[in-house]
Amino acid sequence: MSLPRRLRTAAPGLLALICAGTLTLAGCSAADGAEPAAAGRDGLAVVASFYPLEWLSRQVAGDLADVATLTPPGAEPHEYELTPQDVAAVSEADVVVYLDALQPAVDAAVEQQAGDRAFDVGSAADLDLVYVAGEHGDEHAEDEEHAGEDAAVTDPHFWHDPMRMAAVADALAERLGRADAADAATYTANAAALRTQLEELDGEFRSGLATCASRDVVTRHSAFGYLAEAFGLHQVGISGLAPDEEPAPSALTDATAFVREHGVSTIYFETLVSPAVAETVARETGARTRQLDPVEGLTDASQGDDYLELMRANLASLRAGQ
Ligand SMILES: [Zn+2]
Repeated sequence: MSLPRRLRTAAPGLLALICAGTLTLAGCSAADGAEPAAAGRDGLAVVASFYPLEWLSRQVAGDLADVATLTPPGAEPHEYELTPQDVAAVSEADVVVYLDALQPAVDAAVEQQAGDRAFDVGSAADLDLVYVAGEHGDEHAEDEEHAGEDAAVTDPHFWHDPMRMAAVADALAERLGRADAADAATYTANAAALRTQLEELDGEFRSGLATCASRDVVTRHSAFGYLAEAFGLHQVGISGLAPDEEPAPSALTDATAFVREHGVSTIYFETLVSPAVAETVARETGARTRQLDPVEGLTDASQGDDYLELMRANLASLRAGQ
């Protein structure tokens, strides 16, 4: 967890430089009025910080907005560093949809560039899960200095709970309606239609996981707390809230001990970080490995093309592994 702190410190100077570049670029963009006014209105420019919010924005905005994402496909969002183009996009967007305290680089850019165009989905998502370090091998700070401050933090991974996604969709519709009042009713209707799909997904998880023999889900990083809470599972993350490439040896030892003690049969690995850690725990305990996607970004290895498909692939994986 020391990297985010370093980024937070380094970012202002960097952003000042980038900002200067952005101002120069702005004169060349189509938005400065140099081009003849089109007959119709331009759509909203929406920038989303990472995949689940990009998908949500596209569903709610439909074809009324141009939706861009800051975290490119295949990039791990927690520690993604923004490019100058990303920062320019934040400074030019009509609405910046992000989740505070998930991506320090995004937080810094939003703070400096977005002003009241920023929309933090955290309160609509009702982030009420507190992640406590050290429970069942969850989080192991490598140095004592950081152990205390990382001990209890809010879990940001709300998107694994379909009903929290629906609540964020409603709030986003309201926010887009404020930026584009003429289309407010359409945003509201789109969010309502999306809620129906998300309720269906929620029902599939509820019935699909009801009869699983094991409730203990051992995951590569602790991304599934809200899923576990929503559907009566117990998450045991080898890494904490961010997927450190090299967890502390004690994290591996604790996870291995938990797996043995509770007869866990499956260790779940993810798409955006190496499967090596999950494989190590599996090898030591005789468990199998399966993919469980944190749905933090799409890659070629993703088992689906959008949020709903990835969630259904996760459901199938859990049903097979539990
Ligand atoms: Zn995560």
